[in-house]
Amino acid sequence: MTMKKKKITIALDGFSSTGKSTMAKWLAGQVGYAYVDTGAMYRAVALFCIENQLIDNGVVDEQALQERLADIRITFRPNKEGRSDTYLNGRNVEREIRGMEVSAVVSTVAAIGFVRRDMVRQQQAMGRNKGIVMDGRDIGTVVFPDAEMKVFVTASAEVRAQRRYDELRAKGDTTTTLEEVLQNVTERDRLDTTREESPLRQAPDAVVLDNSHMTIDEQNQWLLNLYKEKTSNR
Ligand code: C5P
Repeated sequence: MTMKKKKITIALDGFSSTGKSTMAKWLAGQVGYAYVDTGAMYRAVALFCIENQLIDNGVVDEQALQERLADIRITFRPNKEGRSDTYLNGRNVEREIRGMEVSAVVSTVAAIGFVRRDMVRQQQAMGRNKGIVMDGRDIGTVVFPDAEMKVFVTASAEVRAQRRYDELRAKGDTTTTLEEVLQNVTERDRLDTTREESPLRQAPDAVVLDNSHMTIDEQNQWLLNLYKEKTSNR
């Protein structure tokens, strides 16, 4: 008799624009798990702040945001291509949240303690039954410290900026320069690693993947092998 494999929790953390989401999505598809992009949640909160004038010159009106936090509803729904799109209060915001305007303020919004606590609570609820691949900055350290598989993804800032720049170009952004993208990537690294509330850290039991010189296929294979290793005795 073949026993059905017990599902595990998979946490992918790491620096901005390392291709974590692409890998995480691919693995989730391969193994039939749910996928959650937690960066999209912080991006949606940042968009809410921009649209509701809760942020001025990079400074968030924290009191006003706290009062309106319950008005922010973030959901994910699959689109026609089968990819998951982010919705803010029922509106598809997938495109807006990836733009530079949101990228410029998201790490400031994500450093606010009450925002993090609210997002972490929702993420823990989504992963309650395991069988989930979640990517972010604090998944293996704060959201799911007991995750059976933890990966910490890194790559040089230059490689990451080039990838992000190519992505923006492909989406029709013809104005942002590579230099601006590099500045944004290094600034987000700085904010994410130095913030007081759950800073970006490698969990002691995470496996490090430096993908600076790897193709997407190589990364995916590496990830799938690790998954097989982690689930071989289950
Ligand atoms: O993953 P992505 O680059 O889209 O995330 C956007 C920003 O959201 C990050 O730069 C970080 O400041 C924040 N973030 C976070 N914790 C997470 C995921 C993202 O603080 N779990």
